[in-house]
Amino acid sequence: MDSTAKTIAAGTQARNSLQARIRWQDNIVTVGGDAPVRIQSMTNTDTVDAVGTAIQVKELALAGSELVRITVNTPEAAQAVPYIREQLDRMGISVPLIGDFHYNGHRLLSEFPDCAQALSKYRINPGNVGKGDKKDKQFGQMIEAALRWDKPVRIGVNWGSLDQELLADMMDSNSRLSLPLTAKEVMYKALISSAVGSAELAQSMGMAANQILISCKVSGVQDLVAVYRELGRSTRYPLHLGLTEAGMGTKGTVASTAALSVLLQEGIGDTIRISLTPAPGESRNQEVVVAAEILQALGLRAFVPSVTACPGCGRTTSTTFQELTQQIDNFLRDQMPVWRAQYPGVESLKVAVMGCIVNGPGESKHADIGISLPGTGEAPAAPVYIDGEKRMTLRGEAIATEFQTVVENYIRQRYGAPQPS
Ligand code: SF4
Repeated sequence: MDSTAKTIAAGTQARNSLQARIRWQDNIVTVGGDAPVRIQSMTNTDTVDAVGTAIQVKELALAGSELVRITVNTPEAAQAVPYIREQLDRMGISVPLIGDFHYNGHRLLSEFPDCAQALSKYRINPGNVGKGDKKDKQFGQMIEAALRWDKPVRIGVNWGSLDQELLADMMDSNSRLSLPLTAKEVMYKALISSAVGSAELAQSMGMAANQILISCKVSGVQDLVAVYRELGRSTRYPLHLGLTEAGMGTKGTVASTAALSVLLQEGIGDTIRISLTPAPGESRNQEVVVAAEILQALGLRAFVPSVTACPGCGRTTSTTFQELTQQIDNFLRDQMPVWRAQYPGVESLKVAVMGCIVNGPGESKHADIGISLPGTGEAPAAPVYIDGEKRMTLRGEAIATEFQTVVENYIRQRYGAPQPS
């Protein structure tokens, strides 16, 4: 289903990427090839706070994150990693942990073997593994650790920390051309060259090509599309995709959605992360919710039943319509942790909540189950459609509760295990 979805989304044939396996104990998360596009997230706790970090990892995993990245920036953080893993195992959370390394990863991975072992993948940023003649050596030490512990790596380039020596060399060479590229075009090439060159170096040291994921993150939508189209054309490494530093709230959500939708529609991207800045007090889970909504809206994956609702207009009679939409949406989401196991396939359910007779009955018939509330001037009755046919009419103050019961009964009958006769 997922490879088909990728192909349909891509219009022709999904990108033929290699497939990586990221595991923790029995939980193997495949990435690339015909695997579904995976959701990744990153904690914002201090990794030294092992309990706090384990709790946030658990929350992200329960929200739907299939891979969770944590920063490993100091010896104390590296020491905390095995304890975080232990806490998660104790809570029954087997989500693979990815270690995010910058500057000192070569030392931390060799000096803290328990950390190297407890992680399921290492993120290496070639822009800050070291300068001059230390660069390849320190990068090599991280690859050696990956080989020793049999871990995949992501070569994660970011234009905020792009290898400046590489960029300067490429700018120099470009200036000598009779038809030089623009500075932006050279930047794109430098990002790709840094990622692909490092991946090839890792391969030359013995890493299997399918154990190497790459990413080239930038914060501009058009820049991201241009860079990843070229990556998609020129490599088969699984691609981690995300608009870096996307920003807060609506801006970050819309910019990420715009960029990722174009690329995912073309079959480019094997894991995604939405880099939202949470508002003070906002749950970190929001980045997982947005990632899931993007994949579901594109028809690539299904996570929760979808609620189709009209925006409401002058024909909408009261706030009942908005309240019912919100109530049913919250109800469906809240039930999913239980329903996922109890009612396999329920995530594909389509519910419609509509505000009046203009589009209400039509849209409700397209859904598995739909309700059309009475608009201005209409009789105070709400017809309910099930599998395209009008089955009942709800009236009075308890419409919301009654409709919820109707939805629950439908789910039980359609997705529940057959009862013994
Ligand atoms: S379905 Fe009715 S209430 Fe909803 S937007 Fe359309 S006309 Fe307005």
